[in-house]
Amino acid sequence: MNIEKFIRPHFLKFRPYSSARSEFKGEGQAKIFLDANENPFETAYNRYPDPLQKSLKAALSDIKGVSSEQIFLGNGSDEAIDLIIRLFCEPQDVITILPPTYGMYQVAAETSNIALQQIPLTEDFQLDVPAILAKPTKLLFICSPNNPTGNAMPLDQVESILQQYPGIVVVDEAYIDFSSVPSCLSLIDTYPNLIVLQTLSKAWGMANIRLGMAFANVQTIHFLSAIKPPYNVNGVTQNIALERLRETARFKAEVALLLAERDRICTQLEYAAVVQKVYPSDANFLLFKVEDAVALHSFLVHHQVVVRNRHTVHMCEGCIRVTVGTSEENDAFLSALQAYEASK
Ligand SMILES: *Cc1c(COP(=O)(O)O)cnc(C)c1O
Repeated sequence: MNIEKFIRPHFLKFRPYSSARSEFKGEGQAKIFLDANENPFETAYNRYPDPLQKSLKAALSDIKGVSSEQIFLGNGSDEAIDLIIRLFCEPQDVITILPPTYGMYQVAAETSNIALQQIPLTEDFQLDVPAILAKPTKLLFICSPNNPTGNAMPLDQVESILQQYPGIVVVDEAYIDFSSVPSCLSLIDTYPNLIVLQTLSKAWGMANIRLGMAFANVQTIHFLSAIKPPYNVNGVTQNIALERLRETARFKAEVALLLAERDRICTQLEYAAVVQKVYPSDANFLLFKVEDAVALHSFLVHHQVVVRNRHTVHMCEGCIRVTVGTSEENDAFLSALQAYEASK
C-alpha cells in the first residue's frame, strides 16, 4: 500500500517552511548564531527550540521500540488529530467516527468542514466490524481504550479492520498505559494505513505541557512533519518531557496505584444501591449508570467533587464518568456518593 495515494495531491509537491533552526544542521561546531533574529542576551528561553525534537524523539524511540522516523510530536494529540485530517482529507472526503467516543474527532472534522459518518459502537460498546467495513471512508478513528466508555477494543478486531480497510485507520491510545489489551504500536510496520496516537497527558501526568505523539510509517510521519507549524512543540515542553520520561519507576508505581484504586472504586460502585451498572474499564476512569445522573452530578458538585456528566451523550444516558484520583480524593468521592444514597 502506497500512502501517497491517500495524501491530498497538493501536499505531494508541497515545500514546507524552512526555519533557521532546521536549515542549519552543523550545530556541533557553531558558536555564534545570528540566523534567527533572536535576542542574543541569555535567558533560559532566548533561543528557538529544536523544530525536529531530536532528543525527545530519541528518548521515545527507546521507550516505545520504534524508530525516530516513525514518531511525530504535536502540541497535544489534539494537534495531531487536526493535522491528520488536513493531510488526508479533501472537501469531498468523509471521516468515520464510532460514537460514543472522544469529542475532538468531530470538532476537528467540523473545523476543516469535512463530513462525518457515525457508526455507533454496539450496545456493549464494542466495534461493529461488519458495519465499519461496509461503509469505508478516507479516515477512520478508533479510540481504544475508548473515552468515555473506558473499554479497550480487542486487538484482533482492530487488526482485522486494518487488513481490510481501504483508508487510513487512526487508533487513539491515550489511555493505553492503563490497559490490559496490548498497544497496536507493533503493527505500524505491517500496516502502512495505521496511525497510532498516544499522549503524555494521562498516565505520564503531563497534561499541562501539551505533548502528543503519532506513530506511523516513515512516509506518513514525513508528511505530517512537513505541514506542522515549525516550532509546534516548545522547548520548555521538550525539556520537561525528557526529564519525566526518565522517571520510569515512578511512572510504573503511579499507574499500578491508579489501577488498584480503579478496582476499589469499581467494587464500591457495584455495591452502591443507586448505581445500576458499572462499565468495564481499561482506562483511568469509570463510566457508571444511575437513575438520575443530573441529580447525582449536582449533589457531588455541592460536595466539592467534580465528575463528568455524560447523560447527554447518545448511548450514555444516565451515565457519569469519574476519573480515578488519589486514594483521598476517591474516598471523598465515595463518601459523597454514600451521602447521596442516604439522602434518597
Ligand atoms: C485525553 C485524550 C487525549 C489527549 O489529548 P492531548 O491533546 O494529548 O492532551 C486524546 N484522545 C483521547 C481519547 C483522550 O481522552
